[in-house]
Amino acid sequence: QPAGISQILVQHITDSTNSQLLQRLQTGQMLEPGTVIVAEAQSAGRGRRGRSWYSPFGSNLYFSCYWRLEQGVPAAMGLSLVVALAVCRLLHNQYAINAKVKWPNDIYVNNSKLAGILVELSGQVDAGCDVVIGIGLNISMSEQSSQHIDQPYTDLRSEMMQHIDRNILIVRLQQQLVNVLKEFSANGFAHFVTEYNQHDLYANRKVSLLGKSPIVGICRGVDKQGGIIIDNGSTTDVYYGGELSLRPG
Ligand code: ATP
Repeated sequence: QPAGISQILVQHITDSTNSQLLQRLQTGQMLEPGTVIVAEAQSAGRGRRGRSWYSPFGSNLYFSCYWRLEQGVPAAMGLSLVVALAVCRLLHNQYAINAKVKWPNDIYVNNSKLAGILVELSGQVDAGCDVVIGIGLNISMSEQSSQHIDQPYTDLRSEMMQHIDRNILIVRLQQQLVNVLKEFSANGFAHFVTEYNQHDLYANRKVSLLGKSPIVGICRGVDKQGGIIIDNGSTTDVYYGGELSLRPG
């Protein structure tokens, strides 16, 4: 195996590639960090908080990667953002696509959702923890997909005129992801703040942060831990946590 490449397991159809990796971890299988599962389709692809990720057959990417987060749970907030940056770097460097990140877990191109990220923790959390990083990325969606997705979305085929070799995309994504995860382990999220802010979908725009009670203000990017900074005119506050959703204000 070339340096930096660990196993890639390929499945035809599965419930969810994240669930497959989580099950392997829960049944005590030893996995090499960087191990990936991909599938042609998912019957129960997941988004955040019980939402679903529409995952039909037809050459899309349903990708999950195991990683060991030595920094422990406090770093998990920054993790989904650095994963998003790995996808942005890949799209920019290899496919000349300028992607944006909607905090904390979605990738947009031309204001439409191209990819979603779902980071899940597994097992006991002590000094470090096992994480599964799921990435669903649309490569070639059929017309009927619009019946299943209740927001603007796009696919790579619509964003570029050239054929996408999915196998090459998978290997490149794994390499880019592992590189970024190593960078994150070595330097923490602070190292990525400037890069994140260059890709922020809502930079300096009015947003609503939906949680227990909605917060409205101007989005000022992220802080050193990956929390979102909202300026409400009189104070600037930072919000963390996976239960929050950002929308245009
Ligand atoms: P949040 O801001 O809370 O993350 P979200 O709507 O982006 O909100 P996610 O859990 O990230 O929610 O993603 C799930 C949502 O993404 C679904 O509810 C649906 O609207 C949309 N979606 C589902 N499948 C796809 C797909 N293949 N491509 C693009 N968007 C999809």
